[in-house]
Amino acid sequence: MRWSKFFIPTLREDPSEAEVISHKLLLRAGMIRKLASGIYNFLPLGFRALKKIENIVRQEMDSAGALEILMPLVQPAELWQETGRWNDYGKELLRFKDRKDHDFCLGPTHEEVVTDIVRRDVKSYKDLPLILYQIAVKFRDEIRPRFGIMRAREFIMKDAYSFDADWDGLDKSYQLMYETYQKIFSNCGLKFKAVEAHTGAIGGDVSHEFMVLAETGEDVLAFCEKCGYASNIELTPAVSGEKYSFESEKPLEKVYTPGVRTAQEVAEFLGLPVSKITKTLIYILNEEEAVAVCVRGDHEVNEVKLEKLFSGKSFRMANEEEVRKIVGASPGFIGPKNLKIKVIADKALEGYPNFVIGANEDDYHYINANLGSTFKPDLVADIRKATEGDLCPKCGEPLQFTRGIEVGHIFKLGTKYSESMKATFLDKDGKMKPFIMGCYGIGVSRVLAATIEQNHDENGIIFPWQIAPFQIAVLYLKEDFKENAEKVYKRLSQRWDVILDDRAERPGVKFKDLDLIGIPVQVIFGKNYEKNRKIEVKIRKTGERKYVSPEELENFINRFENEKD
Ligand code: ATP
Ligand code: MG
Repeated sequence: MRWSKFFIPTLREDPSEAEVISHKLLLRAGMIRKLASGIYNFLPLGFRALKKIENIVRQEMDSAGALEILMPLVQPAELWQETGRWNDYGKELLRFKDRKDHDFCLGPTHEEVVTDIVRRDVKSYKDLPLILYQIAVKFRDEIRPRFGIMRAREFIMKDAYSFDADWDGLDKSYQLMYETYQKIFSNCGLKFKAVEAHTGAIGGDVSHEFMVLAETGEDVLAFCEKCGYASNIELTPAVSGEKYSFESEKPLEKVYTPGVRTAQEVAEFLGLPVSKITKTLIYILNEEEAVAVCVRGDHEVNEVKLEKLFSGKSFRMANEEEVRKIVGASPGFIGPKNLKIKVIADKALEGYPNFVIGANEDDYHYINANLGSTFKPDLVADIRKATEGDLCPKCGEPLQFTRGIEVGHIFKLGTKYSESMKATFLDKDGKMKPFIMGCYGIGVSRVLAATIEQNHDENGIIFPWQIAPFQIAVLYLKEDFKENAEKVYKRLSQRWDVILDDRAERPGVKFKDLDLIGIPVQVIFGKNYEKNRKIEVKIRKTGERKYVSPEELENFINRFENEKD
């Protein structure tokens, strides 16, 4: 490809609308443009990278024996009513009517549609297992679309669905997809981790997320270097490594704490560590019942654990006015003693001596509170996020933490969809049975953003070789070298994706642009070519420069391709 014939509208400045680095760089490199909130155009360079990711995904899915199909984005309400998700799925499901007043939605995921395909035409155990997949547009009317294509409303997903005759079959399909995902993300040149995960709105019992490791990730992962345990922190059981010292209970005492509200402020005011303060939060369940939740000041409530305790009821934090109405005091002064509502205390408060709680009266706290003697919670449970110092729930070694971006998610669904949609097959024993299902998603467009979050520097993107829109750029700094540069460009193009920077621009502009768009190898006909016919080869990732003769060039790049990791 010749740059002069291509379309890469690079930007010099950081666009003000972008908060995260991948969004900034995708815009600056001329790869995407925004059409509306959470809705993006992919320009030629961005589209090339996206296609590379798609092709890696397609190749591994195909070699796992999955069959590619294409399902419609627009889906009739009737299918969603069969599973109950027409009502249960939140506002992310964009519902609308056609001109005949029939209800439709834009597919945020395709369990209903694929189950419908299979129930119509797959009749016997002999046709199983079956894995169907597509790479297509999804629409989710996300409440806060942000970070560009990382959390978009319209995005590209690879979604796959497995159908098995029995649970052993599902285990095998799941394992096959797990391994396929490992290959896909390695082939994309990414550093990633598979972690145990929460199943959310999709449902099912077992699931794993695939996380691209990046400081800027929205998710926190806990993992154990010793035994290999890894989970999304939403799910990690909190196993404290702290031994509470024996300290006898001191008498409870009410203290005046004017205007000090947060755990940090109370700790400073009383001259105590923040771990000795507790936070009590009020939640509203199903818009009717209030519940108090109490954790240590240095711990954080884990709402996924609460969701499990509240067994599917909707819940939200009470607002200030509601807190005042329920407790009679302002948030910041709430505590578990003498509350008229249900109290859930975190396990870490058990045996924890002499801590501070709100007095349920403005400007007052109690010191020397103890679980049991000061208040008796209705329930003591693990409701906090695991944190630094906690132990691996499997082997007891200290846990490590890191941040990640979820790029893939696999689920064992079981019969959730096949039962509600009456999708059955005739089994060996002559009985009709529901299919045992799994589902497997990859956020293809998010992979592109995550790649950049993981691979960039102050000058721009550093594409991994495998998904670089162009792997090699050839440029010449003098018109005299043009002919030879063209020859090399043509020769390299027979094996690799090469762009020839034939623009009439200053060298400085070309170098800046090439660094920005992240091409892994730059082949430069410059000063050294003039001096001694040596071509300069710059490696984007390391900044290394090597000087090779035109005859050596191909071998050099060959070696780079093989040794790049
Ligand atoms: P998240 O927790 O990030 O909202 P999710 O759990 O809703 O994701 P899944 O339903 O598991 O996502 O979808 C499969 C994959 O699709 C995710 O792993 C992610 O990579 C991608 N994905 C989900 N939502 C978006 C989005 N709004 N924009 C881009 N990619 C997305
Ligand atoms: Mg998910």
